[in-house]
Amino acid sequence: MGIFGDSTWMFRRVLIDLNNRITRARSVRVAPGHLLLLAPRCLQHTGCDHNLGPEMLHCQACGRCNIGELVALGRELGIICRMAAGGREALAFVKDERVRAVVAVACEKELFEGICASLPKPVLGVYNQQNNGPCRDTSVDMAAVRRAITAMLEN
Ligand code: SF4
Repeated sequence: MGIFGDSTWMFRRVLIDLNNRITRARSVRVAPGHLLLLAPRCLQHTGCDHNLGPEMLHCQACGRCNIGELVALGRELGIICRMAAGGREALAFVKDERVRAVVAVACEKELFEGICASLPKPVLGVYNQQNNGPCRDTSVDMAAVRRAITAMLEN
C-alpha cells in the first residue's frame, strides 16, 4: 500500500473511532425492535452455497463463518438483522423508519461511507477482520458486536 492509501486508511479509522466515541457519549438507548445489526456479505464463507437472503434466515449455522452467530445474537436480543450486498442496500435498510440506531459491521471504507450517509441516525461501527484479503471470508469479533449492541439497547 502506498503512502496515500495508508493515510486514507488512517484518516477513516480516526473518524470512525471518533464517531463511535461520540455515539457512545450520546447514550442513545432504543428498544430492540428499533436497533439494526447490519452485516456485510463478505462475512459469508465463500464455500457456502446457501442463498441466505437479506435476513440471513437460510443460514444453517454450520460454524464456518460468523453469520450463524450473528443470527443467533439477533434472535437472542430481538433486534433487526440484515445482510447487505453493498452500500446502497445497506443504506436502504438504515433508512427503514423502524430503525433508530445501527450497529454496522464492515471494513473501514464501508463503515466510513455508511456512517456519513446514515446521519443523523446513530451508528456504532465494528471493524471486520480481513485475514483472507479484502471482501473475502472476513470475520468479526462477536464480543465486540455484542458490546456495541448492548451499548445502545434499553435496559
Ligand atoms: S454459518 Fe451460515 S452463512 Fe456461514 S457458512 Fe455456515 S451456513 Fe453458510
